[in-house]
Amino acid sequence: RVLVFGARKYDIDSFQSAVPGGSQLEFTFIDALLDEKTAPLATGYQAVCIFVNDICDANVIEKLSQLEVKFIALRCAGFNNVDLSAAVKYGIKVARVPSYSPEAVAEFAVGMLMTVVRKYHKAYNRVREGNFLLDGLLGMNICGKTIGIIGTGKIGLLTGKILSKGFGATVIAYDPYPSKVAEEYGISYVATLDELLSTSDIISLHCPLMDSTKYIINDNALAKTKRGVIIINTSRGALIDTYALIRALKTGHVSAVGLDVYERESNYFFADSSAKVISDDSFARLLSFYNVFMTGHQAFLTQEALENIAQTTVQNLLDLESS
Ligand code: NAD
Repeated sequence: RVLVFGARKYDIDSFQSAVPGGSQLEFTFIDALLDEKTAPLATGYQAVCIFVNDICDANVIEKLSQLEVKFIALRCAGFNNVDLSAAVKYGIKVARVPSYSPEAVAEFAVGMLMTVVRKYHKAYNRVREGNFLLDGLLGMNICGKTIGIIGTGKIGLLTGKILSKGFGATVIAYDPYPSKVAEEYGISYVATLDELLSTSDIISLHCPLMDSTKYIINDNALAKTKRGVIIINTSRGALIDTYALIRALKTGHVSAVGLDVYERESNYFFADSSAKVISDDSFARLLSFYNVFMTGHQAFLTQEALENIAQTTVQNLLDLESS
């Protein structure tokens, strides 16, 4: 029996069609996110299935182990919200979906980049009001610009490839573990993050959130970027020190930003379920900038990605059952 926390209608549909006929797997879908308060709902379940906004720290894992939950199935790639050492300590296995559709996120990142560069969002709002004036909508070509990709895993590589091969941008990248296919994708590595920061017109973040990457974009890093730099983050919110970004937006040093992810997402989303009180005003302050375009952790959300997520998660659960 599997309890799926934070389940939306699209999760229910995709999971129900992914379960093979005759399988013993039985899913229960609930709206609430997993946290210390909601963990007891997992009584009588052998597995819980969670997403990026569920809180699965050491306290929650201890509670789950007391309820005899044996398995945490993440229906996402990132696992920064799970305390893995606590899971090992309490003998709970954790599985994730390492790759479901890098295309979904890469294509979204490029769309977001185009939105902030060409101001689609502003233009759309104007046209809806019957205003066809072009003042304030001046953009720039992507062709010929230098785009810095931080993290060239599955998503970063594809994003770089689209921008290099499709748009004719000069794509540079920083990654402590360079990829062999980068050159073929039209991406060249720089030796240091500082070099990427100081030469990029646009920076797109694609590394995972870890202790070593938290606030990789902070006051210090922003000071090294070109005046007018554009920043796109479809990876994880805490890669950016949000207040440092707000300071740089205020001075105009950063000219535009596209954000799909935020530092404290569970505070903002699912306000109908187990949301906590918003503890800072960074989200509202970001919204006040006309040159910041924001979406709510949506980059993964394509039909193809949902099918892959559900199929891999079901397979992970079946593998556990038979292990
Ligand atoms: P991946 O594991 O394939 O690649 C991550 C890359 O980052 C690796 O090449 C790694 O070497 C590199 N890296 C690690 N530390 C780094 C550092 N300090 N500087 C630069 N690079 C570093 O991951 P992926 O599938 O490409 O996904 C990237 C991230 O995208 C995920 O970690 C996840 O947080 C995020 N994501 C977001 C969404 C969304 O809906 N917004 C969906 C899926 C994934």
